[in-house]
Amino acid sequence: MCDLAPTAHLDNSKSLNGATQPDADGFFGSGDSQYGGAFLPPPLVPVMKEIDIEYNKIKHDPEFLSELIELRKRFVGRPSPIYECKNLSDKIGGARIYLKREDLNHTGSHKINHCLGEALLAKRMGKKKLIAETGAGQHGVALATVASLFQMECEIHMGELDIKKEWPNVRRMQVLGATVVPATEGGKSLKEAVDSAFMAYMSDTESMFFAIGSTVGPHPFPSMVRDFQAIVGYEAKQQFKELTGGLPDMCLACVGGGCNSLGLFSAFLDDDTVKLVGVEPAGRGLDKGEGHHSATLTLGKPAVLHGMKCYTLLNENGDPAAVHSCASGLDYPGVGPQHSWMKDMGRVKYETATDDEVISVFFELSRMEGIIPALESAHGLAYAMKIAKEMPTDAKLLVNMSGRGDKDLDYVCDKYGNKFGIGKDGMFAGAPKND
Ligand SMILES: *Cc1c(COP(=O)(O)O)cnc(C)c1O
Repeated sequence: MCDLAPTAHLDNSKSLNGATQPDADGFFGSGDSQYGGAFLPPPLVPVMKEIDIEYNKIKHDPEFLSELIELRKRFVGRPSPIYECKNLSDKIGGARIYLKREDLNHTGSHKINHCLGEALLAKRMGKKKLIAETGAGQHGVALATVASLFQMECEIHMGELDIKKEWPNVRRMQVLGATVVPATEGGKSLKEAVDSAFMAYMSDTESMFFAIGSTVGPHPFPSMVRDFQAIVGYEAKQQFKELTGGLPDMCLACVGGGCNSLGLFSAFLDDDTVKLVGVEPAGRGLDKGEGHHSATLTLGKPAVLHGMKCYTLLNENGDPAAVHSCASGLDYPGVGPQHSWMKDMGRVKYETATDDEVISVFFELSRMEGIIPALESAHGLAYAMKIAKEMPTDAKLLVNMSGRGDKDLDYVCDKYGNKFGIGKDGMFAGAPKND
């Protein structure tokens, strides 16, 4: 299964009628509809250039590719299966819903796909240390995991508030041997963690590699991370043909920075019959205004953020807006430049799902199929379930199950447990405390 030519899934620059995207400077699209690039302080310009050159060398190098393919198989557990949700689809009564099970990867999400690629590249470049920011800690855990695998140092910057909220992931990173550095400035969350990690990186770009956690930031990261994630779509396309004899009518995935969605979509961009839908967090409701959602492509405007031009949610002062989603992997005021371009082109449609819809889907998938989804992934599924109802029974939807929901259990049960019958027997009192 999935005996792809070794380079096939690392060369995604040609798609959409043969257009080469991005261009040599990292821009997607042209004219008014141009996104990406590398907006950097001067000392970082040669640093990113070097990463670009080295990445372009290794992406066709048989030795690099065979090491990557071997680790995907033996360390990550690829290929991840495709699964038809029979109970759920029968209940809905419209289109059949299939999941690409990235939640079954080692460390529980798609993030290991690009962490593995970035760490292998860093090792090739002679770097000693992997550095990154993390929000909820998922990227931090995946990176700490590959750092251990390759015996590299790992330093993860995380907002002080996020450290309190997501302590099990902090423990995981520490057990794996990483150093977690609290970001104590300002809002003490993701944005401050990015700033803090960036400062530390600037002090020694010679020995460190900044492993960005999605298809965002300066060139070459948006296209490089996409290439490392493209294995998801290439596997899925073959598996879907084997299972059903054809292609899905629609592929859906949640969009935060945009890497799990681009990973799935990349293989289908030139298949005109396959509709592509990215699902953004509507949080407490799009009409509730700033700080209550994180629907960047739906309500944002083009601006420069974190080294790239992309759709961005801005406040009235023109600064990045406050954002909210029940899924902390999706609450980012920017989005990848390739998504920004594909929105303008109309190749991908962007829809939204609210926190309430997502929470009920979290329980529904758990109780109908025995799969606890990450709250991020439940956004894609929530929209799929809504649209499936209106589609014929021979239509097929493929949703990227980007991660598993174990990390969300405390949050969901504390906040919504009562509504879903948890704690009725008086047994639910949170985790037992040791003294
Ligand atoms: C981080 C994360 C996301 C969001 O990131 P993308 O770059 O948009 O894929 C989605 N799902 C899970 C499980 C995550 O951990």
